[in-house]
Amino acid sequence: MRDHERNDKPHRCDQCPQTFNVEFNLTLHKCTHNGEDPTCPVCNKKFSRVASLKAHVMLHEKEEVIISAYTLFTDF
Ligand SMILES: [Zn+2]
Ligand SMILES: [Zn+2]
Repeated sequence: MRDHERNDKPHRCDQCPQTFNVEFNLTLHKCTHNGEDPTCPVCNKKFSRVASLKAHVMLHEKEEVIISAYTLFTDF
């Protein structure tokens, strides 16, 4: 059997070795380098912690908003 590499994620951080399946997750991750507050892509509300933003975005998803395009958070 061949190795099935499932680790070649398309979105790689340019400041550390981390990689992400979902561009949105990379965007969130980069906030940790920049010291910027992570921002909701739906309503642009800012959050002091990525975990808080993720919980918030889940609420949008329940409302069937655009987030389906992001294939939510499979990395976490
Ligand atoms: Zn990084
Ligand atoms: Zn929001």
